[in-house]
Amino acid sequence: MFQTLNNTIKFVEAPDRARFPYAHSLFIDDEVQVLIDTSCGRTNIDYFLDHDIDIIINSHFHEDHIMNNHLFSKAEIWAHGLDAPAIRSEEIFADYYGFSKFNEEHLGKLFYDWTGAKSSPVHHEISHDQILDFGKTKVQVLHTPGHTPGHCCFLMEDGILFSSDIELSSFGPWYGHLCSNLDDYIKSIKLCMEINPSIIISSHRGIIKEDIQKRLHNYLNIIYQKEERLISSLKQPMTLDQLTDLVIFYGEIKNYFRLFKMWEKMAIFVHLQRLIGLDEVKQVDDYYYLK
Ligand SMILES: [Zn+2]
Repeated sequence: MFQTLNNTIKFVEAPDRARFPYAHSLFIDDEVQVLIDTSCGRTNIDYFLDHDIDIIINSHFHEDHIMNNHLFSKAEIWAHGLDAPAIRSEEIFADYYGFSKFNEEHLGKLFYDWTGAKSSPVHHEISHDQILDFGKTKVQVLHTPGHTPGHCCFLMEDGILFSSDIELSSFGPWYGHLCSNLDDYIKSIKLCMEINPSIIISSHRGIIKEDIQKRLHNYLNIIYQKEERLISSLKQPMTLDQLTDLVIFYGEIKNYFRLFKMWEKMAIFVHLQRLIGLDEVKQVDDYYYLK
């Protein structure tokens, strides 16, 4: 259930290899008892419900990080101010995803209900470079936006970095919704490289001790590789729907599952916003052109 990282910091392993909608958590077992993220599986959550958790920190607003917040009625919930509104409100959660932008509000509602997520209060908003003092354990907040606006990583002693959804999978960074920002994502991954942690705790890949710089580098490059494919596809003007059909982001969507198709479209939209910002692409009516 737990893996001890040092005297006070414990890795909490989620079931099903932390595949969605699960994610690993971190337990700070100190004068103040802290749990980072609450989607680590019911058995783990039941343990924490029996032990007085003082503070829950959400690394970001996603359903697979806030799932069981609502069960901890005595704990304070902390999150970055830019993600807190989407934790507090199902409507804002759907707005952050961008379901309404493509008239998919109903799909958004189905998705929210399917995940089992529930809105919860956020009692305290954390910010970049803040040092959180839990006794022996001091935690530095690193605001690392891109995946979501208020995504945070947490740096602790012994070079332990809880990197949340800068999660170092071979798929690469996920930015399939309206609130993602690729320039921010790139900067955030580079910040993790600069910090040069000794250990990364990834929400979906667990404890990583080997080849950390190389893995961060490869992870970052996946953004650039997808961007290159998008640019080469724009040798002729294309609409967002035509670009979506190329499945550049996911590579493959089985049976063209509607939710994944929307995320594909949003990811391409997010890429296009970056390329327009870089003055490499322009939009005229529904068509995107290389400049
Ligand atoms: Zn996430």
